[in-house]
Amino acid sequence: MTQKRILNLIFLGPPGAGKGTQARMIQEKYSIPQISTGDLMRNEISSGSSLGNRLKSFIESGGLVPNELTLSILLNRIKKEDCKNGFLLDGFPRNVEQAEELEKALNGMNTELSGVIALEVDDSDLISRLSDRRICKGCGDSYHLQFKKPSVDGKCDHCGGELYQRRDDSEEVIKNRLKVYHEQTAPLIDFYSEKKKLSKINGKNKIDMIFSEICDIIDKLKS
Ligand code: ADP
Ligand code: ADP
Ligand code: ZN
Repeated sequence: MTQKRILNLIFLGPPGAGKGTQARMIQEKYSIPQISTGDLMRNEISSGSSLGNRLKSFIESGGLVPNELTLSILLNRIKKEDCKNGFLLDGFPRNVEQAEELEKALNGMNTELSGVIALEVDDSDLISRLSDRRICKGCGDSYHLQFKKPSVDGKCDHCGGELYQRRDDSEEVIKNRLKVYHEQTAPLIDFYSEKKKLSKINGKNKIDMIFSEICDIIDKLKS
């Protein structure tokens, strides 16, 4: 019997690059869970837990949540049963220390990273993508007032949930998030390129075209 290939993937890219949009489609096609540290953190904040209270100010300012907190959230999640055939990380790692800690954790779980897909988009496009992004309160899917309109204004196509604007998708906070990305996260492109794990994609193309390019990369990783 041939063994099923484990697919441990990372989507890397600046805020607004389209990581979440693509990750949701990939999760459905390949049956591996999308793990968004941003979503996990926002859920924690909504639950009103003490951990959530600690996360709030970092997220609202557009800075990174400290590594210790972020790592404990992420490691608890990837140890769950639904990750045993693989997972798709969206928004993690965001700095070199997180990447190194992930590598150690995967070694300890007797597994390894399959590949990293980097979505490249210029800052000028990211500002308009994020300013007009709307998120579903029910399922977290993201829409855009111009590029990915819901069929009915203000409502999610999948679950009918109400669409809202994230507080950190305001112009001032977006600028800080982009600064943080260039200073702390962009160095991961070289980090994974040196490890021969990186595939780059032009994130300025249409959503469907990017999806088919990502599927080609994943199919090669699987074979
Ligand atoms: P990220 O998860 O990387 O922050 P999202 O997937 O939430 O990014 O996408 C950011 C915004 O851009 C959303 O409003 C989304 O609908 C829109 N978007 C995603 N991919 C594209 C694309 N290829 N072209 C135009 N807009 C896009
Ligand atoms: P984006 O649309 O920018 O990709 P995310 O939902 O991934 O947004 O992240 C939103 C915020 O959550 C970040 O600005 C940061 O404050 C926090 N965050 C998410 N993931 C991480 C991480 N891996 N390390 C530190 N902070 C994180
Ligand atoms: Zn929804």
